[in-house]
Amino acid sequence: IFAAVEMAPRDPILGLNEAFNADTRPVKVNLGVGVYYDDNGKIPLLAAVKSAEKARLEAMPPRGYQPIEGPAAYTQAVQNLLFGTGSELAESGRVVTAEALGGTGALKIGADFLKRLNPNAKVYISDPSWENHRALFESAGFTVENYPYYDAETRGVNFAAMKAFLLGLDAGSIIVLHACCHNPTGADMSDAQWAEVVDACREKGLVPFLDMAYQGFADGIEADAVAVRLFSGSGLQFFVSSSFSKSFSLYGERVGALSIVTASKEEAGRVLSQLKRVIRTNYSNPPIHGGAVVAAVLSSPELRQQWEDELAGMRDRIRAMRTALVEAIQAQGVSQDFSFVIKQRGMFSYTGLTVAQVERLKEEFGIYAVSTGRICLAALNSKNIGYVAEAIAKVVKA
Ligand code: PMP
Repeated sequence: IFAAVEMAPRDPILGLNEAFNADTRPVKVNLGVGVYYDDNGKIPLLAAVKSAEKARLEAMPPRGYQPIEGPAAYTQAVQNLLFGTGSELAESGRVVTAEALGGTGALKIGADFLKRLNPNAKVYISDPSWENHRALFESAGFTVENYPYYDAETRGVNFAAMKAFLLGLDAGSIIVLHACCHNPTGADMSDAQWAEVVDACREKGLVPFLDMAYQGFADGIEADAVAVRLFSGSGLQFFVSSSFSKSFSLYGERVGALSIVTASKEEAGRVLSQLKRVIRTNYSNPPIHGGAVVAAVLSSPELRQQWEDELAGMRDRIRAMRTALVEAIQAQGVSQDFSFVIKQRGMFSYTGLTVAQVERLKEEFGIYAVSTGRICLAALNSKNIGYVAEAIAKVVKA
C-alpha cells in the first residue's frame, strides 16, 4: 500500500526545533519558535485560565457532544471580542461563528466552505505570509498567489503596490489579510491604509478573509480589532479566523473560531447550515475544555480583567525586549540602524539578517532563527538577551 509514498518535505520551523533540541551547547537560544515564553523561558499558564480550569475540574461536568458550531456562550464571546460587546454586529444575528480547532482549524473550515461556494476563485496571501496559509488553501483545492506586501527597503508595507494589485483582481478573489501583528514581518498597515483596503474590496468585489491570531499583542484588545471594525462598518461580507493560542497561552488546547459576516439574519441561517456540514464531515463537533475555559474567562468580569492584565503583561514584555535588543546591539558599536525592530508589532521581527548571518548565528553561537531572518521576540528574556545582542553584533559587523 505504501511502497510509492514519497517522503514529504520537512516543515522548516519544526526542523529548526529538532536541530535546536539536538544542540548540546548550554547557551543555545531558539528564536525560531512562534510561541510566547515568559522571562524564565517558560510557556505561561495564565492565572485567569488556571482559575477557570479549577472551577471546571471541581464541577466535574459531563462530557456530552457539543453543538457542531460550539456553545453559544463561546461563539458570542468571540463575537464580542471581534466586533465589540453590545455592537450592532454582535447583536444583529448577521454573524455566523463556529468554534474551531485553533486559528488553523478556523482557516481550514473557512477554506473548505469557500471552495464549495466559489470553486474557481483564486486565493491571494501576503508576500511573505505565515507559511501555512498557502499550504492550507492549496489543500482545500485553491490556486494560491501572493499580493505585494513587505518592502525590505523601508521595512514597512509597500502599500502603493499592494493597493494597485488589489485593484487589478477579479471579482470574487479571496484575499487573506493579517488583522494585526503580521507574521512573519511585524509590519502592519495604518488605520488609513486599512480603510483603503476596505474600499478596494468593495470596489472590486473581493472576498476578505481576516486572520486574527494575535489580538491584544500589538496595542490591546480593542485597538487591535481596528481592521475588523473597519470591515464591520463597511456593510461588506467577510470572514474572520480567531485564535486564542497566544492570547490565552492555550496552544495545545486548540481554541479558535471562524466568524462569517453575512448580509442578513436569514442569510446567516443558510450559511451556518452549510458551515455545519463542513464541520460535521471533518471532526463532527469541537472539543469542550479549551473553549469552555475561554468562555468562562470572558464572561466573568473579574477573570476577564485578570486576563486583560496578563495579556498586557505579555505585550509589554515583548515591547521591552524589542527596545532592549536594539539598545544592546547599538551598545556593541554596530552602526547599522536596528530601530525598526521597535516599530514592528506582535511577536515577530523581520531583522533583515541574511541567510548567511542566520547560519553563522546557529553554527557559532547556537542561536536559531528562521532563514528569512525572522526572530521571535518573546523567546528573548533578561538572561539571554545580552548574549543574543552580542552575537547579532558580531555577525553583522564581520
Ligand atoms: N495565523 C497566523 C498568522 C499565525 O501566526 C498562526 C499561528 N502561528 C495561526 C494562524 C494559527 O494559530 P493556531 O495555533 O491557533 O492554529
